[in-house]
Parts: sequence; C-alpha cells; structure tokens
Amino acid sequence: MYETMVSWRRHLHRHPELSYKEVNTAAFVAEKLRDWGLDVKTNMGGNGLVADLLGQTDGPTVALRADMDALPIQDEKTCEYVSTVPGVMHACGHDAHTSTLLAAAKILSERRDLIQGRIRFIFQHAEEVTPGGAASMIEAGALDGVDFIYGVHLWTPLELGVVGSTPGAMMAAADEFDFAIRGKGGHGGLPHQAVDSVVIGSHVVVNLQTIVSRTVSPIQSCVVTIGSLHGGSNFNVIAESCEMKGTTRTFDAELRMEVKSRVEEIVESTCRMYGAQAEMDYRLGYPPLVNDAAEFQRFVQVASELLPAENVRTLEPVMAAEDFAYYLERIPGCFIFVGAGNPEIGASYPHHHPRFDLDERAMLTAGKLLIRLALSTKQSQSVV
Ligand code: MN
Repeated sequence: MYETMVSWRRHLHRHPELSYKEVNTAAFVAEKLRDWGLDVKTNMGGNGLVADLLGQTDGPTVALRADMDALPIQDEKTCEYVSTVPGVMHACGHDAHTSTLLAAAKILSERRDLIQGRIRFIFQHAEEVTPGGAASMIEAGALDGVDFIYGVHLWTPLELGVVGSTPGAMMAAADEFDFAIRGKGGHGGLPHQAVDSVVIGSHVVVNLQTIVSRTVSPIQSCVVTIGSLHGGSNFNVIAESCEMKGTTRTFDAELRMEVKSRVEEIVESTCRMYGAQAEMDYRLGYPPLVNDAAEFQRFVQVASELLPAENVRTLEPVMAAEDFAYYLERIPGCFIFVGAGNPEIGASYPHHHPRFDLDERAMLTAGKLLIRLALSTKQSQSVV
C-alpha cells in the first residue's frame, strides 16, 4: 500500500488542521474506515475517533494509536505537497502517522483470520496542545476493554531504517509557567524611589538555576528553562513590571511536584526579599511517558524480525513530551520512534521546523511494525 499511503499523507500535508480543529482530517479517516467495514465511533472527546476490528477467535484487545493535528507554523518547503493553509503545517509528521495507521487498518481488515481478539485503532486529535486529546478520548472510553497499546512517532533525528524505544521513562513531563513581577516604576536616575523589576527578575532567573543544581539529585534528570523575559521599555525608566515564561521537564512524578513548589517559592520569596509582588500561573502539562518493560521487550523482539539487529535500538530518554503518556498511565504498552531522517532528500530538519519533512518510506517500517505488534499479542504474554 506504499503509493496509497504516500498519496494520503500528501493530501493531509496539503490540508493541515490545527489541534482541536481536525474536522476534515477526522472525516477523511472515518469515511475510509467505514468503507472497509470497521465499526467507527466519531467525536470521541473531541475530533478523535476509534474503530474496532474483531478477529474470528477470542483474545486480547490491542490498541494502535495515531495523532492527526498540525502546528501553527508557516510551511517553508517548496515541494509539490506544500501546505495550502497559510500559517498551518504538518511539521511533526502526524500526517504520516494517520496515513500509516489507516494502511494498517485496511490491511488488517482484509486479514481478520489472523486476528485473535480485537484491534482498536485510535485516531487522536490535539496532541500538540495541552490538555491534549488523549485524556479526553480516554474519558470518552477509548481505552475501555483495551489490554495493550502501541504508538509510533516518525523521528527525523533517527535515520531511515532504524527504530528505537526506551524501557521505562522515555519522554518527560512538560509543565509550563508564567509570572509577572510587580515593582514600582520610576526615573532611571532615582533608583532609591523605585522597586526595579528588572533587577529582581535577574535574581529570579539566576535563583531558579539552583533547582537543578542544588535541589534535584545529580542522579535524576530535570530541566528548568526561562524561555521569555520582558520588562521595561526605555533606557532611563525603571521598569514597573517584568514578565517571564518558562517550562520544567522531569521524568519522575514526585520530583515533578517538588520542582513546581520550588519554582513557586523561589519566584515568590525573591520578589518579597526586594519589595516586589509576584503573580504566578503554573500549569501542569503532559505526564512523563513511561513504557512498560515487558512491552518494550516485545517491541525489540517484533522489530528484530523485521530489521537487522543493529537497527533496533534502546534509546536514551528525551525531554520532549507526548500525550501518549496518558494511555501508558493506564495500560501496558510501548511508544516507538521510527527513523525518518534522510539528509539526501532534505529530511534532516528537526520536528516543528518550518522546513520539516520526513522520508516517507519510514511509513512502511512503521506500518509493518504496528501490524506485527498488534498480531503478536495473540499468544498473550508468552511472546515475551
Ligand atoms: Mn509529534
């Protein structure tokens, strides 16, 4: 089905839809699944949809998940399948995830004789923006009766033909915060009559660095990043207020909450020390993505039947986030990176880059892997 997958992916690439607005993408998917005789439920927690495929004998239910949303980025590629929507682009490969899972559904719908149990296809909306589609789809019942779940992410930092995953924590919890420091504005030559929010903000940035260096165990991983700092407007005016935005990344649930408290305490108490006020808004994003150890082993075994052993890798965790994490909080499964990088065809830009593209042949690897994973559970846990 390679040519078909490519044509679907290019169609979706030309017509990307932002998170929570995947109406046409969901309709595109639903129509095909219904044509192939699957039982489709639409509007699951938003624009998400699930479709079940029943095998001919009893067995576990295995879910396969793809995400469908695009990003608010202007497509700067020059290829014939460039986005036709100004300012919106499939810059993370979710178009390819959707096409790959569609192809897997088509193939498996023609081979129900191979399925023991049931396969559930989850086409998820809104992966890119919190609170995300996964949580609302679970709430709507997407995981009801499901025993295992697998998902892939085509990944340009890995070269075509390589696949990898991580036993345990693979991707981070990503939380975000913004705060304002309210001081007292004044004349740049009369600092003693003002409360300088820029000086206080500078202390806050430096003090926040001590979370990673002094609060977190050196054996654990954590990021605290201030990504934006704005204060004042002129050289001779002391800034009344100063605003910042930042993100924290952790793999451990307990550490995650400790880091949140430390950020809040440091901002609050640094401001108080210098006579300013702090207004803080700290929002929890996706939880850490933690693969099941046994399902990671199943991935290694299944992938090794498809690919040379050196192309099946155990990867280091990454500090990006994914709402596939919510599924793995509830049932065992594994999230897998499928190499899609190929500098020779320009597929070398990072995800979320305006020139992001992928080697479409990665869809073949991803599709074969998903199909084999879905069928591998028929001997139940004995496969591992
Ligand atoms: Mn993504």
